Amino acid sequence: LKDEVDRMERLSLVGQMAASITHEIRNPMAVIRGFIQLLNERSPVAQQSYFRIVLDELDRANGIINDFLSLAQNRIVEKESSNLNDLLNELSPLIWADANMRGQMVDLQLCEDMDLLQMNSKEIKQLVLNLARNGMEAMDDKGILKIETINFKDTVQLRVIDNGIGMSEEKLAQLFEPFFTTKMNGTGLGLALCLSIIERHNGKIHVESTEGQGTIFIVSFCKPDRFCW
Ligand code: ADP
Ligand code: MG
Repeated sequence: LKDEVDRMERLSLVGQMAASITHEIRNPMAVIRGFIQLLNERSPVAQQSYFRIVLDELDRANGIINDFLSLAQNRIVEKESSNLNDLLNELSPLIWADANMRGQMVDLQLCEDMDLLQMNSKEIKQLVLNLARNGMEAMDDKGILKIETINFKDTVQLRVIDNGIGMSEEKLAQLFEPFFTTKMNGTGLGLALCLSIIERHNGKIHVESTEGQGTIFIVSFCKPDRFCW
């Protein structure tokens, strides 16, 4: 009976998610349809900006599908012994480029001696990128994004800190819900995906935020063969 209840719960969850994703994908599709129609009618000059919009919306729909798939297939990922600092060093040119375009700075502070962790590097990179992007999107052009690693006792910590708009208690409570977003063209899937990645890595995430001052995300990973929680 318990299996049957579990199965029904999963099915109903799938149904709810299907409804949300249908809604999310229909938005960009409607925009694309409208602008393709306009492209038919308008001058070449106007057409250029419409092309941009159409491409952006296609990318957005694609991003939603990708995030949703990674979230839906709670798959078993392959992990290997990896150094979190190395992953961050590989990612930093990308993060710097993104920050530069926004007129922001990045301050990367990596701990001296890093213990190896069992990680799927693709997933951990996606986790860092999602947290970094959220930080950048929360700041204006004077923002400084701090990314730190700390190696302490049984855990390795990753901290992503911004001095941006921060969040109210109400927002903090909904942060990790799929499709919760306050952004014009956000998907609300970024943090839900982060959470599922962290769970697959036996990690924990903790958030502190003050409105108007900034936010800190702390991800803790348990070192191999230790008991952390
Ligand atoms: P998205 O970025 O597409 O909106 P996320 O799941 O990444 O979706 O984030 C959900 C919401 O959480 C954001 O819309 C924003 O309101 C809030 N949020 C996330 N990170 C931050 C941050 N660093 N500072 C302020 N708000 C944040
Ligand atoms: Mg996001």
